[in-house]
Amino acid sequence: MLFSNINGINKKKIVLLPHNNPDGDALGSSLALLFYFRKLKHDVDLISPTEYSESFQWIPGTEDILVFSKKTQSLVEKKIVNSDYIFLIDFNNLSRINNIKYFFSCSKAKKILIDHHPFPFCFDFMFSDSTVAATSILVFRFISDMNNLDKIDKKIATCLYVGLMTDTGFFRFPSMTSETHFIAGRLIEKGIDLNYIYDHLREKYNENRLKLLSKALKKLIIIKKCRTAYTSIKASDLNFYSYKQGDTDGIITYGLGIKNIIFSVFFFEEKEKSPIKISFRSIGNFDVNIFSRKYFGGGGHKNAAGGISEKSLSETIEYFLNIIPNYYKNFMFSI
Ligand code: 5GP
Ligand code: MN
Repeated sequence: MLFSNINGINKKKIVLLPHNNPDGDALGSSLALLFYFRKLKHDVDLISPTEYSESFQWIPGTEDILVFSKKTQSLVEKKIVNSDYIFLIDFNNLSRINNIKYFFSCSKAKKILIDHHPFPFCFDFMFSDSTVAATSILVFRFISDMNNLDKIDKKIATCLYVGLMTDTGFFRFPSMTSETHFIAGRLIEKGIDLNYIYDHLREKYNENRLKLLSKALKKLIIIKKCRTAYTSIKASDLNFYSYKQGDTDGIITYGLGIKNIIFSVFFFEEKEKSPIKISFRSIGNFDVNIFSRKYFGGGGHKNAAGGISEKSLSETIEYFLNIIPNYYKNFMFSI
């Protein structure tokens, strides 16, 4: 039913919505669908709820992304309210599209979820599978289910490959399967430039970003008996090192590099008095999705999740330090 409506015979108004601060998978999946639906001659818009990291600006199609802001608010509202189909890409909880959720509820469009996070909200059509490493895999399956794999060209393949690479930690995470490699193979056959993509995705540091990382590492604290490492960055650190969005990416991974640590946490105050964004990463059975849902109103995957705290940075850390010893003890009992 959905496929026969969007197979290109009738032109539809389609809005593609990735989550806020979209990562490589959210952008790659959305941009791939942008090119794909254009090939089917639909009227397509890709709306990002917020700005995204400058390091992704090389991905094909980013120049066509409409970024939600005070300036674009009424245009975004019009596009969302008047659309026939809205695709929710790489998220499953409306809290992740910020204020766009208000227009979203006013739109009569059919809503289609394409996402790999567990416990999704229910929408009109669901392409949800939390066993896959990346939403890009589900976009590939979606195009395949429409019998349109031949429509994947070099640009679409590049976008999907970005999603695969970024959400699998360059094909290393435990979520990797033979399907991930199979799809990567099909994308490589479309003539994508592997060296070019890798060179644009690998972490790059300028002096300020490296010093910000050094600041975070200096502040790293290990709670040995809970096999936990955490660190934080506050707004004043950012001003000092001329912060640009994306500069704190990767800080959290260092904690997990320490022998015996299975839980790494990064507390981030992006602006003076703004809510604290918290990132969680784990190794093995320690489920940070459950932890984040329970204590920080967040979510994500088993080994990578995020959440938010309305408390100050120091109060948030204090709250965390009160929780973790008991939580860890119970976790150890349960395995
Ligand atoms: P990151 O730490 O990179 O911001 O997020 C890691 C993962 O956690 C993301 O892929 C996303 O799935 C999830 N995530 C991050 N922040 C939130 C949040 O505030 N709410 C929910 N539900 N998930 C989040
Ligand atoms: Mn993803």
